[in-house]
Amino acid sequence: QGPRAATPLRPRPHPTLRVRPLTCTETRRGDQQVVHSLGDGAVHVSATSPWGCRAWGGLHDATFGFSAVFDAGASQEAVFEGSGMRQLVELAMDGFSCTVFAFGQTGSGKTYTLMGPLGQSDTQPASPALLGLMQRSFTCLLEQSRSRASDLALSASYLEIYNEQVRDLLSPGPPCALPLRWSKSRGFYVENQLSVEFESLEAIVSLLLQGSQRRRTSAHALNRHSSRSHALLTIHVRTAGSPIQDPGVGTGTLCFVDLAGSERVKETGSSGELSVEANSINRSLLALGHCISLLAKPRGKRTHIPYRDSKLTRLLARSLGGSGITLMVACISPSSRCLSETLSTLHYASRAR
Ligand code: ADP
Ligand code: MG
Repeated sequence: QGPRAATPLRPRPHPTLRVRPLTCTETRRGDQQVVHSLGDGAVHVSATSPWGCRAWGGLHDATFGFSAVFDAGASQEAVFEGSGMRQLVELAMDGFSCTVFAFGQTGSGKTYTLMGPLGQSDTQPASPALLGLMQRSFTCLLEQSRSRASDLALSASYLEIYNEQVRDLLSPGPPCALPLRWSKSRGFYVENQLSVEFESLEAIVSLLLQGSQRRRTSAHALNRHSSRSHALLTIHVRTAGSPIQDPGVGTGTLCFVDLAGSERVKETGSSGELSVEANSINRSLLALGHCISLLAKPRGKRTHIPYRDSKLTRLLARSLGGSGITLMVACISPSSRCLSETLSTLHYASRAR
């Protein structure tokens, strides 16, 4: 099967919803649970005021539909098996450009869904049951590449977009911004990005760890940095022997995108930095939402897709359009305190249907 063949899955986003459990702090505080899964991909959000009537005149009482909903009790394995992730891995092996997005406000479980507790500490190895979509996909990729007849080589690149600047999370030394270019044969690409070959699970997990650590302790050593940047880990599947730096036709890709927190950034103080940040996050998330909703329209009705509106959409142009297949995992908290951000995540994700 060639890389430009018709896609067996819908070539448009397939939103999946994950609702994390209430945290200890939220439970102790007595936060109410306002999100309830109704089964069959439906989720209901209802906010009841303490005196029993619907808050805000029922404004916050709504039902949303997804291709799958994973509630607080869902295991990491259930999310991997039930979200279509395994099929996505197989499609990447067949030469398609596949992308998984984790979208949602900071603290909603994006990193946990993608990499499990590995995203939080570098020292403790996660128990196998807690491994996220990434590690499970790596295992699956390696298994498949061993069992397939043709000789395949796997390599990984890991980039971060912060304030509309692209950085390589795998390259050692001080972080520097890499230029994003376009060429007719390659489309958009990042100049001089590292692509590291791997053959074992340990090797790729170690790359993931190194990069994630670099992301956390980055440039300004700000705690909030990682929630303000987009991280993209891409696995390139090539036929062994083809040039590593030229992912072109015949190359499958599987990209995991841990998006910046979608919450509205509060513009406190007078420093210009926050507003630059807020603008670039909003710009790229808006641009992504815009491209996705345009791509979801029937082909005949499509207008120009504005990939050039942000670095994120430029980098993902190949995966979003053409024969790309995307899986969006929207992450939300069930807590009443997160209600307005939860609703905005649900609206954003349902726009991508
Ligand atoms: P984000 O990346 O969206 O900012 P995190 O993935 O860091 O959020 O999750 C925030 C907190 O909630 C972390 O402490 C994480 O361990 C916990 N958490 C998130 N999702 C789950 C889950 N499904 N089960 C248990 N804990 C979770
Ligand atoms: Mg995170």
